[in-house]
Amino acid sequence: MQTKKLLIKYGGNAMTNQSLKSEIAKQVLALSEEGYQVILVHGGGPFINKALRSADIQSEFFDGQRKTTSEAFLHIEKTLIGEVNTDLVGIFNQAGLKAVGLSGKDGNSVTAVKYDHESKDGKGNPIHVDLGQVGRVDTVDTSLLNLLLSGGFTPIMTCIANDKDGTGYNINGDTFAGQIAAALKVDQYILLTDVDGLFSDYPDPKSIIRELRLSDLSQHYGSTIQGGMIPKIKSCEEAVVAGVRKAVILNGTQPDQLRRYILENESLGTTLTP
Ligand code: ADP
Ligand code: MG
Repeated sequence: MQTKKLLIKYGGNAMTNQSLKSEIAKQVLALSEEGYQVILVHGGGPFINKALRSADIQSEFFDGQRKTTSEAFLHIEKTLIGEVNTDLVGIFNQAGLKAVGLSGKDGNSVTAVKYDHESKDGKGNPIHVDLGQVGRVDTVDTSLLNLLLSGGFTPIMTCIANDKDGTGYNINGDTFAGQIAAALKVDQYILLTDVDGLFSDYPDPKSIIRELRLSDLSQHYGSTIQGGMIPKIKSCEEAVVAGVRKAVILNGTQPDQLRRYILENESLGTTLTP
C-alpha cells in the first residue's frame, strides 16, 4: 500500500448541509482505505457571517477582506473551533475515521503574523489598511500532523493561529491550507469549493479551464481570477512552487469527485502543475 499524503481544503461554501459533509467524510474514508493519508483544513465563511450577524457585529470590508476587531475575532474563533471544527470531527468519526480537531495553535503547528494590507486611496495612491486580527502564515511545524498521521488519525485543522506574542489571528482558509500543503510536501493539494473549478468566463461552467501550468497564471490574475478564487489560485501556486506535484480545485458539492479524480483519474476540476 502507498502512503501518499493528500491535503484537502474544505471550503465553508461546500458545507451546506450535514449529509453533504457526511458524504465528504465517506470519500475521505475511501481514500484512506486505499492507503492515502489525509489532512483536512477548513474555513467556514458562511458560518462566520451568521455568527457575526446574530451577535449584531457590523463588518467593514476592504478589497473583499473583513476588518477583524478583537470582538469579531472572538466570535470567529468560537465559530470555527467550537462549531464548524467539532461538527466535522463528529461527522468524520461517524463515517469510521479517527478524526482529531485542531487549529494552528495545537502543538504550535502554525504561527501567524499580522497581515499588512496594501490598498489604494481615492486618488489611486497606495495606502496601508489595518485589518485588525487578520493574519498570514509565519511558520509551519509539521511534527504534530505527522505524528497523528502515522498513528492512523485524520487531522482536521481550522485556520486560526497565534503570533509569537500570543495574539490570535484569522487566516484565509486557502492561504493557510496551501502553506501546510507546502510544508508537508503532500502528493496532491485538493481544494473543495462550490464550483467545478476555474472558469475562463465565470459563471459559464462550460468555460472551465482543465489544466494550468505555473507559467499560465500571470495572464489570469486580475482578469479571470476574481473574488474567492484569488486566494485559492494563489495558494495552489505557492504549494506547487514549493514542490507539491499538483494542486486541484474540485466541486465539494459533488463529493464523489474526490474519489473519481484521485482513484479513477477522471478529468475533473482545474489542475495546476509546475
Ligand atoms: P470557499 O468557501 O470554497 O473558499 P469562495 O466563495 O471563497 O468559496 O470561492 C469560490 C467562488 O469564487 C465561487 O463560488 C465563485 O463565485 C468565485 N469565482 C470568482 N471567479 C471565478 C472564476 N473565474 N471561476 C470560478 N469561480 C470564480
Ligand atoms: Mg474562500
